Amino acid sequence: MPDAHPPEALSPEALEEGRLLFAHECAFLRGAAKLDDLPPTTLPEVAFVGRSNVGKSSLVNALTGRKTLARVSNTPGRTREINFFELGHRLILADLPGYGYARVSKSQSDQWTDLIFAYLRGRQTLRRAVMLIDSRRGLLPHDILVMGLLDRAAVSYQLVLTKADKLRTGELAAAEAKLAAEAARHGAAHPELVATSAEKGTGIPELRAALARLARWNL
Ligand code: GDP
Repeated sequence: MPDAHPPEALSPEALEEGRLLFAHECAFLRGAAKLDDLPPTTLPEVAFVGRSNVGKSSLVNALTGRKTLARVSNTPGRTREINFFELGHRLILADLPGYGYARVSKSQSDQWTDLIFAYLRGRQTLRRAVMLIDSRRGLLPHDILVMGLLDRAAVSYQLVLTKADKLRTGELAAAEAKLAAEAARHGAAHPELVATSAEKGTGIPELRAALARLARWNL
């Protein structure tokens, strides 16, 4: 059985740093439907990416302890944009539009790919992409395509399981091991896997701590 690379035991200081960062105000900056609309690169940035319905809005809300993100990012017209939020003048959170939605046309899907790829490749302050995978579904073909996109854009990314509360402990461990094995085959994913539940709060302090480490870096 491959090693699922659980997150290293985090120190109380690291967890506290994460808690403090995410206790800051999180303000909507803007939505960008094209490259010209991107906000200036003034802070380290983390992008959240995943299939529609993976639980991205719920997770970002759980991280920030606010409902703002779901409201903005699920507003009709904003769902095809990259939505940017600034956390306490320390870190920018970029909520990428969900992919894999069955009713999206080929040309809309191509537009998604063009914008996202250009953003990922060109965004110098982007420290990491957080790629969300539904615990019950595992990696699907579209996820693997997006991992390829991240690899080609040379963006470091971290896989995060969502909706962990929907699985029993043994099932979750199996899902983590399977994901780790697949990720190892498909690309240069960051080896640290975090299983989260926005509903129960599982993994939220650990993910906050991981992101706080990235916010520490100077530009
Ligand atoms: P998005 O489209 O990726 O932004 O997904 P949402 O955050 O809107 O969530 C999609 C659905 O999954 C909603 O019905 C949520 O209530 C549900 N969901 C999200 N996170 C969790 C979770 O941690 N546990 C459970 N059980 N359901 C969740």
